[in-house]
Amino acid sequence: MDAKPEIALLGEPVLRRIAEPIDDVTHPDVQQLAQTMLFTLEGSNGVGLAAPQIFESKRIIVVASKPTKRYPYAPEMPATVMINPEFIPMSDVTVKDYEGCLSIPSIRALVPRYYSIRVSYTDLTGQRLGVEFEGFIARVFQHEYDHLNGLVYLDRVDNNQDIISEQMFLKLIAI
Ligand SMILES: [Zn+2]
Repeated sequence: MDAKPEIALLGEPVLRRIAEPIDDVTHPDVQQLAQTMLFTLEGSNGVGLAAPQIFESKRIIVVASKPTKRYPYAPEMPATVMINPEFIPMSDVTVKDYEGCLSIPSIRALVPRYYSIRVSYTDLTGQRLGVEFEGFIARVFQHEYDHLNGLVYLDRVDNNQDIISEQMFLKLIAI
């Protein structure tokens, strides 16, 4: 693959649609879409991607946590493709932290998310898996999952004053 696909930016209707479930995980189109998503995330500063962000209204996300300039304390997690993901919170505890989104450049905001969640998803071989996430990875998962339901993180911000510029965010974390 040469060129990375275009990223849908906030305002694109595809970001506000409910994405379609995947019936046949082994279908070449699905496998190809997953590879394109992995390729798109690779080398970007992102830690996750949802298919609607590349104009595919399908229930596929990739979560790939690694420490970056933006998230210096992020744990290492190899890029994982999750098809038809679901989750339930393991408690009512929520935590606020900064999020950003490839579809919403130059902005960051404090977003409340469940601290620990139980996730299920289908992998690229068609196996249904269950796993528990907490902290940063639980946050990334919930962010990407929202994209499948037509939501972006700004919809979950408590207060508009929790929204800041990327430049201010980089100043804050440099302290
Ligand atoms: Zn996003």
